[in-house]
Amino acid sequence: MKLYSTNNADNIVGFQEAVFQSLPKDKGLYMPIELPVMSEDWLNSFENFSFQEIAKDVCYELLKDDFSKEDLDKIVDEVISFPAPLNFLEKDLAVLELFHGPSFAFKDFGARFMSRVMAHFSKKEDQLLDVLVATSGDTGGAVALGFLGVEGTRVTILYPKGKVSPIQELQLTTNGKNIRAIEIDGTFDDCQALVKQAFVDEDLQSQLNLTSANSINIARLIPQSFYYFEAFAHAKREGFDKVSFVVPSGNFGNITAGILAYKMGLKVKHFIAATNANDTVPHFFETNEYQPKPSVQTLSNAMDVGSPSNWVRVMEFFENDVDDLKSKIESFSYSDKETVEAIKQIDEKYNYIACPHTAIAWKAAKEYELKKKDDKELVVFLSTAHPCKFPEVFSEEIRSKISNPDAVKELDENNSQKVAMENNFEELKLWLLDNA
Ligand SMILES: *Cc1c(COP(=O)(O)O)cnc(C)c1O
Repeated sequence: MKLYSTNNADNIVGFQEAVFQSLPKDKGLYMPIELPVMSEDWLNSFENFSFQEIAKDVCYELLKDDFSKEDLDKIVDEVISFPAPLNFLEKDLAVLELFHGPSFAFKDFGARFMSRVMAHFSKKEDQLLDVLVATSGDTGGAVALGFLGVEGTRVTILYPKGKVSPIQELQLTTNGKNIRAIEIDGTFDDCQALVKQAFVDEDLQSQLNLTSANSINIARLIPQSFYYFEAFAHAKREGFDKVSFVVPSGNFGNITAGILAYKMGLKVKHFIAATNANDTVPHFFETNEYQPKPSVQTLSNAMDVGSPSNWVRVMEFFENDVDDLKSKIESFSYSDKETVEAIKQIDEKYNYIACPHTAIAWKAAKEYELKKKDDKELVVFLSTAHPCKFPEVFSEEIRSKISNPDAVKELDENNSQKVAMENNFEELKLWLLDNA
């Protein structure tokens, strides 16, 4: 796969370089120059394949210039090691559960794939890869668990003291092996600033093989396209040939992966981007003016993004043609009050507990049904996290109905290992060099 930067079409790199750089130096985003389209034969029969088989076929079409078939199959087998079930709540409304991975959120797909791709390339170069990330919660857990035990890699995670939930902290600190957690006495922005400084520090640069696990890395998007194919295959087996997807969106990476699947031939009818009060994109759909703004805090905090980093990719996929974009994508925004009401309604209607992000997607699914849905169309809304990750959002009554997955019960405070540090770059630098 060859990729160009959205800020300069002449800036062309190979897949390996795009993965290790994450972001081009010109601050654009990497986009594939050409996308393969799945064959008509395949598109007419993929409902007969398993999730792993579908993922292998799609992945091979995308990356056959960069990997052998054997290597890719091995990576996909390791990544797609848990299901993405489609759960029918009504005859033509289903929830796609993407939270059955190790961190109970859909970011597991991206993090697991990126870790194996990076390990594959750095093994070739025979050098230990040091991944340095700052996290405010969800991303760090997925990255830590994504790289856990992956040979040739080591992860150092910086997180702000007292600002991640108890489950999230245990997911960061109880891994051991190749995962190290540093608790910074500061904010998330402080953690991010420390990471940025590490990447420009000459001593660290020369002594460690540092990389970021940035959320806009192309290796995170690719595996997220697999579950759109998988859900569509399931829908076909149930007799649907029209499917629309509702995606709870923050940085718009998840929906970008859906559009990637669409551009590879998956005949998605509509995409619906659902946001919380951070409504930069819904506002753009209404006014044709794209005005990024500072984020505001909401109950669905993994979507608190005022300037969605993947939006440029979405526009690029539609060649910046706003009419074309609007014919394919709808976008709706909901308040915290509506989110809480939706959680309650979903429980009452289906006896199903949705996390706040998922509840917003359900609201948008309902709004879309009234506006555009065809008779024989299936609407699929994506559930991006398990509700047990957000206990503070729920009423006592609903919270008591959430059953924690076994892996959550096994998180043991006694195994927590963290290094506590001041918000001080020299201290971090010394520690990284001493513990290299
Ligand atoms: C990251 C995240 C989102 C938003 O996904 P984007 O790809 O950033 O749009 C939604 N829900 C949960 C639970 C998340 O962790």
